Amino acid sequence: MSQIKAVRGTRDLLPPETELWNHIEATARRVFARYAFGEIRTPIFEDTQLFARGVGEETDIVSKEMYTWEDRARAQSEKAQMLTLRPENTAGVVRAYIEHKLGDTGLLQKLYYIGPQFRRERPQKGRYRQFFQIGAEVIGPTSAGSESPLRDAEILEMLGTLLGELGITGWMLELNSVGSAADRPRYVQALREALVDVAATLCADCQRRAVTNPLRVLDCKVPEDQGKINELPKIADFLDEDSRAHFAMVCAALDACDVPYTINPRLVRGLDYYTRTTFEFTHGGLGAQNALLGGGRYDGLSEAIGGPKAPGIGFAMGADRLVLTLQAQAAEGGANNAAILVDVYIAPLGGAQQAQSLVLARELRRAGLRVELGDGTFRLKKSFEMGNKLARKIVLFGEEEAASGIVTIKDFETGEQTKVPRGELADFLSTKHSRFPVARE
Ligand code: AMP
Repeated sequence: MSQIKAVRGTRDLLPPETELWNHIEATARRVFARYAFGEIRTPIFEDTQLFARGVGEETDIVSKEMYTWEDRARAQSEKAQMLTLRPENTAGVVRAYIEHKLGDTGLLQKLYYIGPQFRRERPQKGRYRQFFQIGAEVIGPTSAGSESPLRDAEILEMLGTLLGELGITGWMLELNSVGSAADRPRYVQALREALVDVAATLCADCQRRAVTNPLRVLDCKVPEDQGKINELPKIADFLDEDSRAHFAMVCAALDACDVPYTINPRLVRGLDYYTRTTFEFTHGGLGAQNALLGGGRYDGLSEAIGGPKAPGIGFAMGADRLVLTLQAQAAEGGANNAAILVDVYIAPLGGAQQAQSLVLARELRRAGLRVELGDGTFRLKKSFEMGNKLARKIVLFGEEEAASGIVTIKDFETGEQTKVPRGELADFLSTKHSRFPVARE
């Protein structure tokens, strides 16, 4: 029979890689808590209209990439509902904000999420059809300060801190302002006019975008088009006084806390809901898909999906790409990613020691050590081979050790062999000797 495989663009995450995922998620949760964020979990699928209205009909995500299906109607008279696997999480969070009337608290809502998203993109390194985002949103009534540029700067400063705590080095922050809902139409109009003359000389995608959604022309990656696109009008010249002041404050706050950034006037991002601040953190080690995370302000999103005025700002980071970056950094450092690594490998030297070895393993595990257990049927040579693949030290547990209560430990790296009373074993094996590739809490 033919073999069934994971669907194109989806993958299984296996140990030891999942350890890295857990480390990333735990670090994110810890950092978010320090910045007063609480976790939200929204459904994996939503009414298709949420994304059509929230993300924008003309975006690549909504026009080409969503997994959408018609739900079965419950009664014959009922119209079947169109449902979509969430391609991003901001629209879901804002829907929940509206549905649960979170604005009525009068407080800012600071919410983070961690979970899978789905887009039917062409799979490649760092781009999958099921991928994982870690994101956060700050949203609330204007009276709670949700429009303040301080919120933008706080999020960006938090992201710098989070990437630092994850151990990711060499990131770059690109920043821009796409203006308010009032500035944008004026800019789009200017862009449209400028494109009349050049569109015909640009790639086929740009020719289409020039008509349907001129802002998207700025995302074009075709090398021959770049010179002409850089000559197009810049959004910075169309910002009104308020947007200009807002952006200047964001930059000043970042300067004050030494968060490095560069301004990229073409950064308009692929989702229609952004207003004012937009940003992306990139990493040179990722290749073509170099964005670690992206985000921005969305002051009109709540109203676009039928809610009250509730300005907000948020970001989504690609957890898959964080993993790739950390793996690449670990590989440069010579780490071994073949298997889960433990503190110690216990080798029972005969069938009679098996049960007692399990007792010993339990003692050490209860003391917080990571332990793997061999089998009494193994020859000594095999025990050493297995132990050396998994652990830094091996504990030999034979008849003599069982009788005397003193076990023999061998350190694979130094070759040193030591005899230690069983009761002192946990202290002796303290985790500072761990050889894990991943920085641990
Ligand atoms: P977006 O929701 O498009 O703003 O994307 C935010 C972040 O999610 C990006 O910077 C990527 O790190 C990640 N991301 C987006 N699409 C994918 C994908 N298809 N596969 C993996 N990561 C993705």
